[in-house]
Amino acid sequence: MQNRRGVDGQCDDELSWQRLANCLGVDPDLFFPERGASTREAKEVCRGCVVRDDCLDYALANGEKFGIWGGLSERERRRVRRARAGGRRNGAASA
Ligand code: SF4
Repeated sequence: MQNRRGVDGQCDDELSWQRLANCLGVDPDLFFPERGASTREAKEVCRGCVVRDDCLDYALANGEKFGIWGGLSERERRRVRRARAGGRRNGAASA
């Protein structure tokens, strides 16, 4: 997982969730498909992953632009990012 994500050097606690990742030992290329290629297999691996939320949060917090993280594609993560940003703006406006 750390090699696939290239996140070596990060604090152990911050990335401890990766030890439980479903994708440990899975071909990294599966999670970084060529443009237009299917993401179905990668998402299938993510589906049962117990650290899916941690993975997604990590990708969003670090602006990961490529690949499947937390079971979501780049486009899907952009939607989540926009929705969360919108939620924060609305929350701030109503506070
Ligand atoms: S959600 Fe997917 S990419 Fe993220 S750790 Fe789990 S299996 Fe790996």
